[in-house]
Amino acid sequence: MAAGIAESRGWPHRARRVAAEFRLDAGRRNRVPVVAAQGQAGQRWAALEQLNLAASRGIDPERLTRVALDETTRLLGAERAILFLVDAETQILVPFVGRDANGRDVAELTGYSATVVDRVRHSREPLVVTGTEEGEALGAQSVVQYGLRSILVAPLELDDRLLGVVYLDSRVAKGVFTVDDTDVLTAITHHIAVGLETARAAQLEVAVAAANRQRDLAETMRRAMARLTGTLDPELVLRRLLLTARQTPGANRGWLLMGTADSTEITVHGGPAPVQLTLADHPDLRALLDNRQADMINGTPPWAGAFADSTGQSWLTVTLDDRNGAVGVLVLASDRPGAYAAADLGVAAALVGQGMVAYDNARLFSRVNELATTDSLTGVANRRRFFDLAERALTSAKAAGGPVTALMVDIDHFKRINDAHGHQVGDDVIKEVVQRLLGGLPANGLVARYGGEEFAVLLPGIDASGEELAEGLRAVVAGTPVDTRSGPIPVTISVGLARLRPTDPTPDTLLGRADAGLYAAKLAGRNRVVAHDPEHLPL
Ligand code: GH3
Ligand code: MG
Ligand code: MG
Repeated sequence: MAAGIAESRGWPHRARRVAAEFRLDAGRRNRVPVVAAQGQAGQRWAALEQLNLAASRGIDPERLTRVALDETTRLLGAERAILFLVDAETQILVPFVGRDANGRDVAELTGYSATVVDRVRHSREPLVVTGTEEGEALGAQSVVQYGLRSILVAPLELDDRLLGVVYLDSRVAKGVFTVDDTDVLTAITHHIAVGLETARAAQLEVAVAAANRQRDLAETMRRAMARLTGTLDPELVLRRLLLTARQTPGANRGWLLMGTADSTEITVHGGPAPVQLTLADHPDLRALLDNRQADMINGTPPWAGAFADSTGQSWLTVTLDDRNGAVGVLVLASDRPGAYAAADLGVAAALVGQGMVAYDNARLFSRVNELATTDSLTGVANRRRFFDLAERALTSAKAAGGPVTALMVDIDHFKRINDAHGHQVGDDVIKEVVQRLLGGLPANGLVARYGGEEFAVLLPGIDASGEELAEGLRAVVAGTPVDTRSGPIPVTISVGLARLRPTDPTPDTLLGRADAGLYAAKLAGRNRVVAHDPEHLPL
């Protein structure tokens, strides 16, 4: 190879020297010589071999550079070798690493000839300076100042790009460089250049992979957030949080413990059905619930036994906090020992953070929803909610061809109760009447507070037995006086009854007929049930 280079550069005497040194005849010049390493040439091959070995072992550019500089220093008898690299931003040559003849890093990279370094940077040709006079001639003050007897500098190029320069200097006779030495230095610098580029490419690949991972993670989080906020049902938010957490890398199993260290009972979600645990039976769990931070555990924690599957080798726990404080703990487990790293903890904590915001919102929404649909005095559905529910009940009853009976209920002479005992006592009476109505209804019956002391009742599946059921309600109210803060008060109700007709377009028409029945009951003397019968209504 050396002979080839010498020939192509038009250095006949050097080509001859190489041929003689490696015992090449004219016909074999282009072959790689298989001569045992010996003499100076052998040393050069050995040096390059060292570099090859270093380059093939690792991609750490600094290590490779050190090996290259050490080999060069040894080979050329230099006192020190410095690698300068072109700074990507400023385009200035910056000392990267320096080595002395003993194979140690040069702590202070000073006292070199910046002028010579700069010359090579511009000319991109190797340069040898021997003796102070030559240095002076080049305008290199430092050559004189530091008594540098010999300097050898070669550019570090790859594909016509200047990556830096390699600089050798010496103040002793042993290290007087000659023009011949530039070749070996050029070969070595090429090695360094390739090594640096490979390392940079590898580092870039690592950076790209890390960026991809970050992007994937961001995407996972975004999707998880969309899923978590996609529902306003708090229970569903928790279930989705658990499902998403189980999909994070490393997790084989996961549970949500709902409850705090102060709870008597806690609920474990994660199995086929939620499991209730009495905290007193699982004292170890208290430590888990007490630990108010995210945690990684290698091995089996003492509280693992509380879970259906406690065989995990690595565990990760994150506390669940809503706006009022602790509500539980997320527990993830992996079969792999040491499955979790700090990054996983961060991901799980971020996921839980998002999940708990969604949980808070869902609960707030449920509460607002409840307030908007429930009567605050009695706890039963308000009129609006009743119409929603009634519409659904009627639709499915019509589809199935089943009967529906509706009742309108009104407390008799309620004004008198208010007038005699006050509004609060009146409220007590309303609450008690609702309780008695609820107690007398079948499980699928609906009750709503329709107005002040009027109630609507819907009885899906009830037909002929409707009158009897309504009569039962009337009797249970009238049967026992209502206990109030003013003592027992006798209360009666009037009830109107109507049955669903296939022609009823909405619950309104059905309730309208029940109301007509109620009107009839009032007219007939109160404390009775009147089924709507258009033929006999006194309109
Ligand atoms: P009737 O037998 O004809 O139904 O006689 P009534 O006195 O019950 O007459 P009506 O149903 O017209 O009167 C209802 C009264 O109930 C009027 C109102 O002052 C009272 N009321 C309405 N809402 C409430 C409430 O939330 N609490 C209390 N204490 N009273 C209420
Ligand atoms: Mg009334
Ligand atoms: Mg009324």
